[in-house]
Amino acid sequence: MDFYVLTLFPEMIKQGMNTSITGRALEKGLLRLFPMNIRDFAKNKHFRVDDYPYGGGAGLVMQPEPVYYAYQEACNQIKRQNGKEKKPRVIYVTPQGQLFHQSIAKELAKEEELIFLCGHYEGIDERVLEEIVTDHVSIGDYILTGGELPAMVMMDCISRLIPNVLHNKESVETESLEGNLLEYPQYTRPEVFHGKKVPSVLLSGHHANIETWRYNLSIERTKERRPDLFEKYVKEQK
Ligand code: SAM
Repeated sequence: MDFYVLTLFPEMIKQGMNTSITGRALEKGLLRLFPMNIRDFAKNKHFRVDDYPYGGGAGLVMQPEPVYYAYQEACNQIKRQNGKEKKPRVIYVTPQGQLFHQSIAKELAKEEELIFLCGHYEGIDERVLEEIVTDHVSIGDYILTGGELPAMVMMDCISRLIPNVLHNKESVETESLEGNLLEYPQYTRPEVFHGKKVPSVLLSGHHANIETWRYNLSIERTKERRPDLFEKYVKEQK
């Protein structure tokens, strides 16, 4: 998977993605990351990329030209990489988009490359968005200062679904939200912590009993913590 990120803060993307599991996947070449600084595509002598909004109002708006030139460069790189002429998927991370969800991550993980567009300040001039964006995605109903964290949230989630990024395929399959259930509680050493013992069934070595115990706790936990999800689970059982 190739991630292209159009941003005013490429260092933030590099540092975030070069850590832990995604960092190792980048090292192994399972993922490739191309952060592109939108400011490098400003064609004025002060490298200015924002201006006041027409019609007045608070803050500054990112101008369309540098965003468009950065997008063109990403498209050219993609063409050079895989020789294909197809229009890449461009995800504008925005609080105005559809809410990000595991199912969206699964769908996006099938692409060979994705371009993420990160806004800042009051957002980006609408005309360039109309021209290049294929998907508007929000990571939640709250406002952040920029699109870098949302883009990293999405890339992290998508990366886990790329073959061999996680050592253990099973962990994707048993994770919370799979089958509309939350994951069962997990325990590791020591066997006793602050007087609390690990549930004895987990020490029994009886795989069928362990599975049943985990399944029941998944159901209990989902019912208690995410009644909305539990409703979906019940519907799907019918
Ligand atoms: N004025 C914009 C609005 O009301 O829709 C919000 C701009 S926000 C301060 C700056 C940038 O942060 C946005 O362009 C977007 O890229 C990013 N952003 C902020 N909150 C986000 C969220 N919940 N999900 C995805 N991106 C977000």
